[in-house]
Amino acid sequence: MGIIVGCRRESAIAPDRLKPIARCLDQEPLLSAKDLELIRWAADYYRCPPGEAIFSALPTRLRRPVPSSQAQPKGWRLTAAGDACPLAQLARAPRQAATLTALKAQPAGIDDTSLRDQLGDCSAALKALATKGLIERCQVSAPLDRIGAQNLGIPPIGSPATSPKAWPDISPEAVPTTSPDASPDGLATSSLATNACAASPDSPTAGEPMLGPALNSEQQVAVEAVSEASGFNCFLLDGVTGSGKTEVYIRLIQRALERGQQVLVLVPEIGLTPQLAERFAQRIRAERVVLHSGLGERERETAWRRAAHGQARLVLGTRSAIFTPLPDLGLLIVDEEHDVSLKQQDGFRYSARDLAVRRAQISQCPILLGSATPSLETLRNAERGRYQHLRLRHRAGGAQAPRFLLADVRSQPLVTGLSHALLTRMTEVIEAGNQVLLFLNRRGFSPVLTCHDCGWISVCQHCDARMTLHRGHSQLVCHHCGDQRPLPVQCPYCESPDLRPLGQGTERVEDSLRQRFPGIPLARIDRDNTRRKGELERLLTAARDGAYPILLGTQMLAKGHHLPGVTLVGILDLDHGLYGSDFRATERMAQLLIQVAGRAGRAERPGTVLVQTRHPDHPLLIRLLRQGYAAFAAAALSERAEAGLPPFSFQALLRADSRTEQLALDFLRGARTLALALEPGPVEIWGPAPASMERRAGRFRAQLLLQCSQRGPLHALIDRLLPALRAQASNRKLRWSIDIDPQES
Ligand code: ADP
Ligand code: ZN
Ligand code: ZN
Repeated sequence: MGIIVGCRRESAIAPDRLKPIARCLDQEPLLSAKDLELIRWAADYYRCPPGEAIFSALPTRLRRPVPSSQAQPKGWRLTAAGDACPLAQLARAPRQAATLTALKAQPAGIDDTSLRDQLGDCSAALKALATKGLIERCQVSAPLDRIGAQNLGIPPIGSPATSPKAWPDISPEAVPTTSPDASPDGLATSSLATNACAASPDSPTAGEPMLGPALNSEQQVAVEAVSEASGFNCFLLDGVTGSGKTEVYIRLIQRALERGQQVLVLVPEIGLTPQLAERFAQRIRAERVVLHSGLGERERETAWRRAAHGQARLVLGTRSAIFTPLPDLGLLIVDEEHDVSLKQQDGFRYSARDLAVRRAQISQCPILLGSATPSLETLRNAERGRYQHLRLRHRAGGAQAPRFLLADVRSQPLVTGLSHALLTRMTEVIEAGNQVLLFLNRRGFSPVLTCHDCGWISVCQHCDARMTLHRGHSQLVCHHCGDQRPLPVQCPYCESPDLRPLGQGTERVEDSLRQRFPGIPLARIDRDNTRRKGELERLLTAARDGAYPILLGTQMLAKGHHLPGVTLVGILDLDHGLYGSDFRATERMAQLLIQVAGRAGRAERPGTVLVQTRHPDHPLLIRLLRQGYAAFAAAALSERAEAGLPPFSFQALLRADSRTEQLALDFLRGARTLALALEPGPVEIWGPAPASMERRAGRFRAQLLLQCSQRGPLHALIDRLLPALRAQASNRKLRWSIDIDPQES
């Protein structure tokens, strides 16, 4: 299956390599000119083949040929009587004659839309002809020329090609906006997926406003600024957790919907959709759909089509929802804009946040990037005046900001990673009837198993990583390649039975807490515990309702969830964020810390955040905890400026991996030589160097970093480098890719 994006009269490709179109599956274009413009821009910017980019933008079901009944529209064709009927018989009924003439010219039949296009409203004539038994209903495949010439605004075959580019320029005016009821796609409202929710009977009636709390003055300023914006404008909504950002989103969405526009809201993770969807449901009456990878293929297609046809007015989705066609798009919102999950990490490596900005520009509408911990890139854009910086400095509804305590755990006795200070506070909080949230970003029982006699450690055979002990399944699991092994009963090296788990993951802390706080309900929330569909939601709802005095979890628990009963947050281990190998490690650490801390004291009860660390003197950590994220970010930004790192420079990472170290490194050395020969100008070339985890899933990984203080020369070099690399004798044993604006190295 292929996708037609344009028609041309001439081609540079040899005729025997061109493939004829056997059958056209869709009776109307799946994507509008603006949708294509975005994808085309993304493919170009991220250096992804256009075909791959378009395919990734479509729901899975639309990437496959679908059963013809689904794909083919209804139409009319002649019966035998109609075929035999001379036109003269209809001399007194010119509409019927014209209709019959058109159908005689197309013995296979004509679909309804084409008939209407050709003849205008001919329903009376069709009815009369059908009554006379001259025509009948049938399924027709849409004729190619209609799809090509009219709907895409492409010059029909036979007229000179107008654009020298690989893809013709498609003018937006030529694309008709699809009206909701003209969707003969077999998706009747009755088959509406469960996630598409029209107003329920008990929601307020049309005239009744769905009011929320009265906005405070900062919220008001933000709402006014965005709603007064005309055309493309980018806003950063920089608001501490609980400051009422979501409330601002809701007001803006309501206004946009009232103006007849559609709204797209992106969140980084599926786990964040249910709570937001629920809040939208309480306040927004228009049809809403949710789009994320947890949906069934059919549900996803249905939601996508309802958005594309303008039926769904509000789309809430994860990363890939950025490509959802929205004919009336009038506002984009990216929540938690700093989150790395917004960047696709393989294949088509786009940043949904950056594409959202581009999309707003194409649609000439405002975009709002929201976060309590904006990325340094976004803050820099705000500093330069490209984005308007809107601030919500205070928690809404009178909740107080949490207080931070640093617990120096050097030479302190720890009970499975819990300090005495933390345990004492936990007891107080639980006795007072409040909730504790403990954060440990490591699932499993312990991150490594060791032999007490010879020092053997459980390393993965395929990666430069240790295998995590999972006691629930009595297994060693590699979190990087997924390899699993049964738990050994003795050391594979010296056969000693004295094997000991070293360090702790959430499973182990859970065990220890259950012993220490017998009878106190505890919920562990991590990926292992929430695999069943709906389980995460169930746990979070119960947690929010106060069912568990103790909550223990990984970053799944850290993001966005509203847990009003939590008055103490314990951060068990912050340290590997402080000295990570990636230059973004401290930024990520700060974001995670503030996000987790944001769970505390959201209601009227003030919260405390206790951070356990072995580095209580770390300057950026101290600045973060004493002066807050903005001060931290300012300091981190000036460090980046000094080092010439993003956002003060732009990067592209050429990655390669192979079974042998040599192959990947040789390829990258070759790439370096090529790049140098291409006169890189101001572009710095670093490496090749092994990736931070050199071996993963049995493959050696290395990378070459290209960096420049301006985007232009960097991208110009890549433009020249990539064809040269592709032209090199390709080696099947080597895989390579380019990552533009990489987020992780
Ligand atoms: P954020 O998205 O910034 O974390 P929310 O929008 O979830 O913040 O707001 C936090 C809490 O404060 C919610 O319970 C919300 O209903 C409430 N809230 C928001 N704005 C106001 C306001 N202006 N007055 C009173 N309560 C508010
Ligand atoms: Zn041993
Ligand atoms: Zn592994």
